[in-house]
Amino acid sequence: MTTVEFWGGVGLIGSSKILVTEGTHRVLLDFGTDIPREADLFRPPVSLRQGRELAHRLRVGAAPRITGLYDPAQLDAGDPLGSAGPDTQVFITHGHIDHCGLAGFVDPRIPVHASPATIALLTALAAVGDGLPGGDPDWQPLPDETPVQVGPMTVERITVDHDTPGASGYLVTTGDGVLAFTGDIRFHGRNPERSWHFAERAAGCDMLVTEGTALGLGLPPGPPRTEDDVRADFATALAAADRDLVLLAMYPRDLERVTEFLEVATAAGRRIVWGDRTAAFLREAGVPDPLAWTAVGLDALRAEPGAFVYQPDLGDLRGIADLGDLPIGPKTVWLHANGEPLGPFESRWQLFTEWLTALNVPLQRIGSFGHATADDLHTFVHRVAPKVLVPIHTQAPDLLHPLAPTRRMIPDYAVPYRLDGSRA
Ligand SMILES: [Zn+2]
Repeated sequence: MTTVEFWGGVGLIGSSKILVTEGTHRVLLDFGTDIPREADLFRPPVSLRQGRELAHRLRVGAAPRITGLYDPAQLDAGDPLGSAGPDTQVFITHGHIDHCGLAGFVDPRIPVHASPATIALLTALAAVGDGLPGGDPDWQPLPDETPVQVGPMTVERITVDHDTPGASGYLVTTGDGVLAFTGDIRFHGRNPERSWHFAERAAGCDMLVTEGTALGLGLPPGPPRTEDDVRADFATALAAADRDLVLLAMYPRDLERVTEFLEVATAAGRRIVWGDRTAAFLREAGVPDPLAWTAVGLDALRAEPGAFVYQPDLGDLRGIADLGDLPIGPKTVWLHANGEPLGPFESRWQLFTEWLTALNVPLQRIGSFGHATADDLHTFVHRVAPKVLVPIHTQAPDLLHPLAPTRRMIPDYAVPYRLDGSRA
């Protein structure tokens, strides 16, 4: 018999972890941490001592108690979680921490699969000291639509569209039927055909586990902002700033947008200067000659503010007072394109915006949502037409309404279910 357990993403955005068990074999889809928010005990200024990250997380219930999954060397001596479990393989959908943040704690004898682009991204982050806590797992690059056997189960990775390279969904074929998992998905990015292809491949599956981030967020009605809108707004804002400095917050893991912003800035006669950490990451990730802050320096910015766009490393905001040294002009603006701090739900946001107010820099949000809108989610679910629909990675799973005969199942944390949605 196949069972499915949801060890995260239940009633909240992020933290996805789906454990599929058939006989003596297990497939774990995603192994993420909760995204930083007020309830996150590990938000700044808390930092974890190296080597104790996992034990400290387990101590306060911030990592799931799944036996035979963790690296025994990172557990407290004698922790029963370190005893052997069923044969397990892990599959990661993409390189955002709410999907991969615990992967560094996995027993090094357990393979951890992901798309080649996801592994390249996480390896580049690790190379500049921004790697996964616990270190790199035993990464297995998994080509598109190439089945992997895990005991009686087969697992297939299918590339989808999301705001980071290599984002994927998975199909798990078991003796009792097929489970499909979207990871994070959108239909208004540069490659919506990938997400619709996933819908085709998942069509008629027994259980569709889908992200539902947009549900209940109260997003404005109408079509979502696209990457074309983001690009156009960036170009317009650069022109409007005239000869003044422009500040930027975009998410560097969105390498597609990094490339586009570099093109737009060049066309506007500006160069983007990145904080040193970000520049080092972009270089590792293959962006040609990213310009680092220390290579340019404050004097160059002061001499010709209108020749630059500057994205400082905000990290824990420790250096935010340094922004007072910048040549801030009457037309200087801070363009926020889904960068850090990510938004008002983060503990850093309030302090960040207080500083912008004090420095007299207006904040202009020009980003685009990385997740499917509620309308697109419904179209997607109707196209897949699964037997059972399981919305996770959302605060409002009850707002996703399938058409008959699809049944919706809202799971409880860590409870085993059959593929037909009944309790095992
Ligand atoms: Zn996510």
